[in-house]
Amino acid sequence: MAERGRILKVYNNVLHVAAEDAVILCKLRGRVKKGRSDMGLVPGDLVALERISPEEGVIERIEERTNLLQRPRVANLTQIVITVAAASPDPHPLVVSRFLVLAELSGVKKIILCVNKMDLCTGDPATFLAEYEAAGYPVLRVSAEQGTGLAELRERLAGEITVLTGPSGAGKSSLLNALDPSLALVTGAVSEKIGRGRHTTRRAELLPFMGGYVVDTPGFTQQELTELGPEDLTHCFPDFAHYTGCRFSPCSHSHEPDCAVKAAVEAEALSRERYDAYIALLNELRTKKK
Ligand code: GDP
Repeated sequence: MAERGRILKVYNNVLHVAAEDAVILCKLRGRVKKGRSDMGLVPGDLVALERISPEEGVIERIEERTNLLQRPRVANLTQIVITVAAASPDPHPLVVSRFLVLAELSGVKKIILCVNKMDLCTGDPATFLAEYEAAGYPVLRVSAEQGTGLAELRERLAGEITVLTGPSGAGKSSLLNALDPSLALVTGAVSEKIGRGRHTTRRAELLPFMGGYVVDTPGFTQQELTELGPEDLTHCFPDFAHYTGCRFSPCSHSHEPDCAVKAAVEAEALSRERYDAYIALLNELRTKKK
């Protein structure tokens, strides 16, 4: 009888699938293979498999995905936690907005911003990166080193399928290790983590974590917006949708007169940093299109 499982990782054309009672090593059934190559299956995919021994099986069918993140390629996530550091490296608004845009593009509904290294924060911790809170994203302020804020992060991760994205060195692996030392993820310089040279990327893997899964993503920190047209960027800034009544429709919120978004920035209802990040990304996409 077929049973249901979730792909944890794909390694040497073998699919490691978490079934109810064990991780089963699977191959694809011939006719499934025709429609979709092994490379098409990604961690997070839900499949129906037939067991051929207690440890081995054959994949019969692949369920439709609810979402797909492109880098790393992981399917059926329930949330994305974008992790940045309060300092070292400093959180650049353009970098934060770029990760937010990629998260919005994936189709994953729950997007959380996690600011790590709050022990290095100078100024009022409660208001650090508050402009993203105002934009509607939950912001967690934590320190892997000091253990602050970890209880809330733990609560957010329990039972979910989460990918932690964000710039390298933000402390993603440190946070996961602090929450579950048995993960024993390598921390420190990216070059050491990837290990086999600059051009090798490690494959993504779902790691069982507090009743759900997490994906650690070394080697996926250079993020390009490849699939997005300039006219679609505004949909990846959901906070802009609150400001309606632009004279032109559609409005790119850049050069047009009587633009409600620009008026909101002038009135300080919308963060100028966030708007500037939008314009920088828009210009980048327009240049790419040419
Ligand atoms: P990743 O690339 O995002 O996975 O980052 P790592 O977890 O490898 O951490 C990068 C560096 O930041 C390491 O040297 C960590 O020791 C350091 N680090 C991680 N979390 C904290 C923190 O909360 N405070 C401080 N001061 N340093 C941290």
